[in-house]
Amino acid sequence: MEEKIFNNNQIKKGSEGATPNTRLDSPPLEDGGRGGGAGYLVVLGGAESGVGAALLAKKNGYTVFLSDAGELKEAYKQELVANKIDFEEKGHTEEKVLEANIIVKSPGIPENNELIKKVRAKGIKIISEIELAYWFKGDAKIVAITGSNGKSTTTSLLFHICQKAGLDCALVGNIGYSFAKQIAEDPKQLYIAEISSFQLDDIDTFRPDIAILLNITEDHLNRYDNKFENYINSKFRIIENQKEEDYFIYCDDDEVIKEKLHTLTIHTNTLPFSMKHEFKKGGYLKGDDVMLRLQQERISMSIYDFAIKGKHNIYNTMAAGIAASTLGIRKQMIRESVGDFRGLEHRMEYVASVRGVDFLNDSKATNVNSTWYALESMERPVVLILGGQDKGNDYSILDELVKQKVKAIVCLGVDNAKIVKHFKDIVPAIRESNDMDTCVRMCFKQAVKGDVVLLSPACASFDIFKNYAQRGQYFKDAVREL
Ligand code: ADP
Repeated sequence: MEEKIFNNNQIKKGSEGATPNTRLDSPPLEDGGRGGGAGYLVVLGGAESGVGAALLAKKNGYTVFLSDAGELKEAYKQELVANKIDFEEKGHTEEKVLEANIIVKSPGIPENNELIKKVRAKGIKIISEIELAYWFKGDAKIVAITGSNGKSTTTSLLFHICQKAGLDCALVGNIGYSFAKQIAEDPKQLYIAEISSFQLDDIDTFRPDIAILLNITEDHLNRYDNKFENYINSKFRIIENQKEEDYFIYCDDDEVIKEKLHTLTIHTNTLPFSMKHEFKKGGYLKGDDVMLRLQQERISMSIYDFAIKGKHNIYNTMAAGIAASTLGIRKQMIRESVGDFRGLEHRMEYVASVRGVDFLNDSKATNVNSTWYALESMERPVVLILGGQDKGNDYSILDELVKQKVKAIVCLGVDNAKIVKHFKDIVPAIRESNDMDTCVRMCFKQAVKGDVVLLSPACASFDIFKNYAQRGQYFKDAVREL
């Protein structure tokens, strides 16, 4: 019989106990402030995670004050008022912040922020929202998913499998739903959490039962003193509190991860996945089949049956599949779920076919690595939309694939000079645009029946758009106007 780490009867819907929000053993704070009404807790930043943290802290007896340098969204203000939580916006009252016993810092606030420097100088403990959530989760389980790319996809896929299997679970974290708020308002027995490196920067005791590390490529280095090593260390904090009964699922094909692992003593069960090697425990590719091996359990699944396509999604599916199996979900259910998962908006999303030209929206590809995977999965000639806000990109990793697959590049950005300079001698045609309608019309002109127009820009969107989602939406609107 297969040995499962969790008796998943404990996390089945309708079974005993989503645990109450009282965690008596929550770590004592250095300054004495803790659950039970003794502490004064300040939340810095009032977006999804900050407001969630405020609600959870208030529910657990803290005196809470939320402070934001910018304007709060109306819906968040109403939530704070309804819960009698004191707050301010458009600036911080320093005295009120610096009196805190403990501070929950939103992930968007960098360490070099002037107020944070003062907080640190005063020695006030700073935690992230996921740390607070961890203190009050009761005996629920956590699967925490991190990596530079593929977090949202893997988190959503795993959530889909768990939901179909009837587990009492919630999708939380960076994906847009506050972990802390979920615990405050609708506690579950299992949380599938997308975790960013910024959230990991301020953990203390946070310990996922299952941690997944998908990959590490250079990203967000401006927040890490431009040192890749700091970013790597931040990602690895996902396992720093794990113990021998926990699980660590990671990509063994990722050289950065592998190199770092050699330098660490791991206190948990490792379950690697790879397309290059086989493992006694973990996941690997054999021909066109993904094999998952856990204890006595063997699962094989054809990659042709996966709903989400591309090499990167084979990795994501392996990671989610191993986690699901570790949670005790039956293989038939895992197979069925990876086959009918619908994928996420703005990630290799099929938009439409116009006169035989397919349009794909991969607006979420905001770095060169994700664009590499998008191109890698293309089997027909590509008209590629690149550009936006450059984060210090090195485009050369795309050169080979561009030479093989791309017939034209249409740049979409305020400043396209770097991309034009890099690719002009590599692709047959390169065009420039700085609004979506023009860009999509230019692409259509370059394409013939059987081609694919791919928006996978390798850059952030902020030079023209509010965010990647708006960029993707405008793309879809423009395609539908053709
Ligand atoms: P994240 O939440 O980490 O930003 P997403 O799942 O939203 O990741 O995917 C972002 C982009 O990264 C997508 O456009 C996709 O093409 C690419 N991507 C997805 N999974 C992977 C992976 N495992 N490795 C590399 N790139 C990936």
